[in-house]
Amino acid sequence: MKTLLLHPDTEDAIAQAGTLLAAGQVVGIPTETVYGLGANALDGAAVRKIFAAKGRPIDNPLIVHIADFDQIYDLTACVPEAAVHLATAYWPGPMTIILPKAACIPDEVSAGLDTVGIRLPSHPIARAVIRAAGVPIAAPSANLSGRPSTTTAAHVMEDMEGKIAAVVDGGACTVGVESTVVSLAGDTPRLLRPGGISLEQLEAVLGTVEVDRAIRQQIGDDVQVSAPGMKYRHYAPHAPVTAVCGDPARGADYIHAHLNPNAGVICFDEFAVRFPTQIVHTIGRSDDAAAQARAIFDALRAFDHTAVTEIWAQCPDDSGIGLAVANRLKKAAGFHVIEV
Ligand code: AMP
Ligand code: MG
Repeated sequence: MKTLLLHPDTEDAIAQAGTLLAAGQVVGIPTETVYGLGANALDGAAVRKIFAAKGRPIDNPLIVHIADFDQIYDLTACVPEAAVHLATAYWPGPMTIILPKAACIPDEVSAGLDTVGIRLPSHPIARAVIRAAGVPIAAPSANLSGRPSTTTAAHVMEDMEGKIAAVVDGGACTVGVESTVVSLAGDTPRLLRPGGISLEQLEAVLGTVEVDRAIRQQIGDDVQVSAPGMKYRHYAPHAPVTAVCGDPARGADYIHAHLNPNAGVICFDEFAVRFPTQIVHTIGRSDDAAAQARAIFDALRAFDHTAVTEIWAQCPDDSGIGLAVANRLKKAAGFHVIEV
């Protein structure tokens, strides 16, 4: 299959992406979080093509993207008041709400669960493409399963060329990590995946929010987890990663003392000077977690074009969007984490 690269400076590109999606094809779409691999969420056969292109395990459900809030009522069995409050505060934006699903959601989307994740993205191209398709769009991150997520159209082509109908080039993603996944399907609100909306922001609207333990620690294969995606090795470059958490200056000392000559380093801007002979990718200053979020996946991917044999990564603390950056790094490291 030839994968078209569509440039959305013309109305045509949006219309073309919409037509392909309406016809049951898979299209790479820019969003503010990461690029998504979209298909008609109401068409089980179209959704199966996403799993095939990614090599995604079938027990890992997909998020359904909408262009207008009212679509949520067609896709869910009930919309509690808390969901309306969250949506009012943070939609359109990088947050997914898990709710009991409506009968129209195919099993392929929900992976057999009785819930569905819904998101209203803020990216104007994402919303225009969803509107042009005329249907809600199921979309996981547009990477091969297990690889770092994609934050540019070039990343998507790297993983998906020849496997999907088209990619819409919307430039680099402005958030850079995936959406926050919060479940309102149980008795207490529960954070299943940290992302672009922080835990503190959720708590400001919801009060108490339980935090799934899979966010900070490794979960065994035999354990039932709330967000099935959290149990898989994820976001991993080819070389093994070690995440170094704690005081950034002590972390830089630790990495400096332990790295081998062929190591790559992911570090905060102010520590790059410590590693003059290594391949280094800086991800922003240690106090700028938003910059780190924008840079993290590109940094993880970039080492695959080099001969590095190990990767050391400085990891931010858990405040704000740092919780999401730290979660992605720890998962990329298979939870091989050093605390300094
Ligand atoms: P991705 O599409 O790659 O961003 O992954 C979507 C994430 O949302 C995965 O971790 C899924 O397990 C999670 N997710 C999607 N739908 C549900 C659901 N109905 N219940 C719990 N988690 C979900
Ligand atoms: Mg993903």
